[in-house]
Amino acid sequence: MNHSISKQLFERAQASIPGGVNSPVRAFKSVGGTPVFIQKAKGAYLFDADGNKYIDYIASWGPMILGHAYEKVVTAIQEYATYSTSYGAPTELEIEMAELIKSMVPNVDLIRMVSSGTEACMSAVRVARGYTGRNKIIKFEGCYHGHADSFLVKAGSGVATLNIQTVPGVTSGVSHDTLTCAYNDLNAVEKLVSENKNQIAAIIIEPVAGNMGCILPQPGYLEGLRKICDAEDIVFIFDEVMTGFRLSAGGAQQTLKIDADLVTYGKVIGGGLPVGAFGGKKKFMEVVAPLGNVYQAGTLSGNPIAMIAGYTTLKELKNNPSIYQELEEKTIYLKNGLNEVLKNWGEPYTINQLGSMISVHFSNRPVVDFATASTADNERFKKFFHAMLEKGIYLPPSAFESWFLNNALSIEDIDRTIQAAKQSL
Ligand SMILES: *Cc1c(COP(=O)(O)O)cnc(C)c1O
Repeated sequence: MNHSISKQLFERAQASIPGGVNSPVRAFKSVGGTPVFIQKAKGAYLFDADGNKYIDYIASWGPMILGHAYEKVVTAIQEYATYSTSYGAPTELEIEMAELIKSMVPNVDLIRMVSSGTEACMSAVRVARGYTGRNKIIKFEGCYHGHADSFLVKAGSGVATLNIQTVPGVTSGVSHDTLTCAYNDLNAVEKLVSENKNQIAAIIIEPVAGNMGCILPQPGYLEGLRKICDAEDIVFIFDEVMTGFRLSAGGAQQTLKIDADLVTYGKVIGGGLPVGAFGGKKKFMEVVAPLGNVYQAGTLSGNPIAMIAGYTTLKELKNNPSIYQELEEKTIYLKNGLNEVLKNWGEPYTINQLGSMISVHFSNRPVVDFATASTADNERFKKFFHAMLEKGIYLPPSAFESWFLNNALSIEDIDRTIQAAKQSL
């Protein structure tokens, strides 16, 4: 495969953009080599600047669940763009978006739109602190909640990929208020809570972790956290930026049958445009300004183009619940195919999967938290990633990221992927 134009573009990019990219994991730093520069995409396929075609397993890190350039979404954006791209004043479309989300997620009474998952999570924590009058939060090692200061402690995603232990620029005062412990370890949470009695505002978690590879909550774990939050008046925040509208129409709350107090969204909710949201029960959300004094705002929040892209995507998902079944069937088909290939290969591996999230770890033990994800063979992943890329399969360029399936993928695409995996080990 020829990547000469991508190589030229990467050289040029580095002269004017830090590291040549606008978000770190895109730079391929942990897998080595040159990132491919994308020119366009359609359905399940990406096309790079050199004209190479790839089967896409990132889906823009989640949002493109229906496939790229989905006709209804593109048409809606085109129509709304002719009415102007922003007003800075309320629109009926924002009400329709909020009502649609409420119809898909029953325990959301009030929801506020923002422009990214980072903003959603940082605002949800502010609400929890404002509501409880407490300062500390608990987050889990390897979970990523965006790049706000308080979350960059033992974070997953790019922070883990680049192996950054402490982030310069985050003050010790801020990190002091972020308590961390291992994912899937209920005792560790109980210990933190008892050591910090009446000081913890919120527990924030990815109900299915996707930023250290895909890691499932063990049976009883989230239920246990729910109990602790109830007993200690701690606000339980589900960060559903990845899982929301992906695992099911109602997200992880619906799939795993657990209610959070506050929930954050991003990725799928914008259908490929910059959208995030935080919401929940009225008693929490009514502290938000202008109802209450917990201030939160955004010049482009509820932007009409972003809203219509998200609205059209969510409406499609709501009206066609079979999409979730199709996605899951395709993902299980991929998992079974990869299992066959990896079994014959003979080296240790683990595949984690739920719904349309899946990850392969070259590890000799179950991957249940950040520590076990970290023991996997990263060198092997690098080789596998590049071998797959050369065969036209675009995987996340990091072992610490979940793969995301989109519903434009065909069984033939997945067969080709399994075949490529066989030749890539
Ligand atoms: C991507 C992600 C975020 C951050 O969202 P951005 O839109 O990148 O700011 C937060 N939480 C989780 C679980 C994510 O996967």
